[in-house]
Amino acid sequence: MQLHDYINGLGQDLKRRFGEKVHKLSINAEFTCPNRDGTLGRGGCTFCNNASFNANTRSQLSIREQLERSKPGMRARRYLAYFQAYTNTYAETEALQRMYQEALDVADMVGLCVGTRPDCVPDATLDLLASYQAQGFEVWLELGLQSAFDATLERVNRGHGFAAYVDTVRRAHARGLKVCTHLIVGLPGEAPEDSLVTLERVLEVGCEGLKLHPLHIVRGSIMARQWKKGEIEPISIEAYVTTAAEMIRHTPAEVVYHRVTATARRPTLLAPQWCDNRWPAFNGIAEHLARHGGQGSALAPSRLAATL
Ligand code: SF4
Repeated sequence: MQLHDYINGLGQDLKRRFGEKVHKLSINAEFTCPNRDGTLGRGGCTFCNNASFNANTRSQLSIREQLERSKPGMRARRYLAYFQAYTNTYAETEALQRMYQEALDVADMVGLCVGTRPDCVPDATLDLLASYQAQGFEVWLELGLQSAFDATLERVNRGHGFAAYVDTVRRAHARGLKVCTHLIVGLPGEAPEDSLVTLERVLEVGCEGLKLHPLHIVRGSIMARQWKKGEIEPISIEAYVTTAAEMIRHTPAEVVYHRVTATARRPTLLAPQWCDNRWPAFNGIAEHLARHGGQGSALAPSRLAATL
């Protein structure tokens, strides 16, 4: 039983379209974040300690050096440059162009994945990304939404509401860009049903990709202090597996899953402890889908009919 038998995963999607494995290489391009430097807010999102999910810590290296050193030997011959850490559209267009182009100039690079906040993507940045797509590069705009509930976004100090996400998705789609939306399951004050409502709202707006992530409580975050005081309850693996799997079952088959769970390393990870190993959640989701049906199997009849 393999998870990719039940979901439309990014790895298979890329292999189908490029005819071979395409590997995603993470970059830390030394961006900051407007929700940390005072432009939009201070302190950042309450769950954020970027060091916990930035795979590439060699930020003293150039973008080219990071990508060259991350290439996994002979396992893949094509690559996507993933601008991952912090807000990767938070610079003037000329600076963004220099960085993105440096990545695309690396041998065997077929495109870009750019992670950012929905309220930090001006038209000029979208035009720049669309110009790479027009040249034949694969381009994904990865938007951190986390929840479609404004009350939750406020509670975790995101500094933007759902409306900012809708606006950016519409402007990206107007340029033909693909959007991958990041959602967190287990945010404070949210029940599993709320994650399904968030999914429904995101699907209504439309997106080409999704990335699911269990809430991690990490050292150095505001949430770490709340957790130590007993104000935050980490999500259990059982609740995460069921919620993530049901979200997948409620997702149309053409939407590409870039990720269905995530890990953080100790000692940065404080809770839940099961988040230090991706496999139990990964396997649990695969088992749930094998038993109840794979991606798209729980769609409302009207939505299912639209995908046939
Ligand atoms: S999660 Fe993203 S948007 Fe929030 S503070 Fe961290 S880098 Fe900024």
